[in-house]
Amino acid sequence: MDQAFYRDTWAEIDLDAIFYNVQSMKQHVGPHVDVIAVVKANAYGHGDIQVAKTALEAGATRLAVAFLDEALALRKKGISLDVPILVLGATNPQYAPLAASQNIALTVFRAEWFEQAFMYGPYEQPLNVHIKLDTGMGRLGAKTKKEVQQIVNIVEQKDSFVIEGVYTHFATADEQNVDYFSFQYDTFIHMLEWFPVKPSLIHCANSAAGLRYPDRVFNAVRLGISMYGLAPSQEMKLLLPYPLKEAFSLHSRLTHVKKVKAGEKISYGATYEAEADEWIGTVPIGYADGWLRRMQHFSVLVDGKRVPIVGRVCMDQMMIRLPYELPIGTKVTLIGEQQGERISVDDVAAHLNTINYEIPCTISYRVPRIFL
Ligand code: PLP
Repeated sequence: MDQAFYRDTWAEIDLDAIFYNVQSMKQHVGPHVDVIAVVKANAYGHGDIQVAKTALEAGATRLAVAFLDEALALRKKGISLDVPILVLGATNPQYAPLAASQNIALTVFRAEWFEQAFMYGPYEQPLNVHIKLDTGMGRLGAKTKKEVQQIVNIVEQKDSFVIEGVYTHFATADEQNVDYFSFQYDTFIHMLEWFPVKPSLIHCANSAAGLRYPDRVFNAVRLGISMYGLAPSQEMKLLLPYPLKEAFSLHSRLTHVKKVKAGEKISYGATYEAEADEWIGTVPIGYADGWLRRMQHFSVLVDGKRVPIVGRVCMDQMMIRLPYELPIGTKVTLIGEQQGERISVDDVAAHLNTINYEIPCTISYRVPRIFL
């Protein structure tokens, strides 16, 4: 039989939720602001090509990724050359002609990069670049007027390059205190004055800034986490201008069910001991799937009830305590809803003492994604 996968564990991606989240941001920022769908890291673990296509259908006009490899993969998977893709990370100048030939815009922030990239020409079509300004994130970007002037001068001399955009990235747009955000925003406005001609795209907003300050995004928003239906931070949950729809859920099925007697142990290290006679189910997901060992003591949903993960999570499997005997094949929901009970990505992140971004990104390639 020809089917895409054979294991009993899968993630479901609700593309209607993605569509709704993109459309909501588009309406929120208005018709003159482009939505750039951020689909790096396999669309935060959701599936790059499917999310990219859905976002474009919902009104996004551009895509952004972290690395050139991710942009090329999107082209190979069918994103046509007329959809601009922006690489947000640094790219080796050697690959600039390849990027140009695929209508992939690169992020640049050093004048000498252009000298080097020029040497790797010829360019059949000019390379679009977005100049990154470091207003306080401290990661990538030009910081001084001199650096920006050098960039502008060199691009003026070489028709292989077009400054299509200029942008910056906020470090604290998702925090309640707005002081540092305001400092970065004001710095950005100040730095834009250093450009004798304003590039056609000026952008600074991630999800948090787009959600909170739709009138301060210039003419594009780089939409990441909230496209996937997740709030950029806990604080932001109280500040959402429209409800978000979570797109990611994670499911499995019981592969073994048994009764254990009081005193019997479960899994590596024999750390769990049954207190009474108990029904124990085995679930085929483990840390190699990104369901980390630290998920021990968390819960999952089975037959609409929250039940605990017992014993250590193994590489490919884990055990849960069942409320009663259940048949092999019973659905287990690790993230998502069952009969009105819900475990959200945020609940998993809270258990792991991390942010929601990390959770779908961490669910590995080994877990097939099903698109609804
Ligand atoms: N812009 C840049 C430069 C980023 O690195 C990211 C994500 O990390 C985003 C935009 C999207 O941010 P968010 O997922 O918070 O919307």
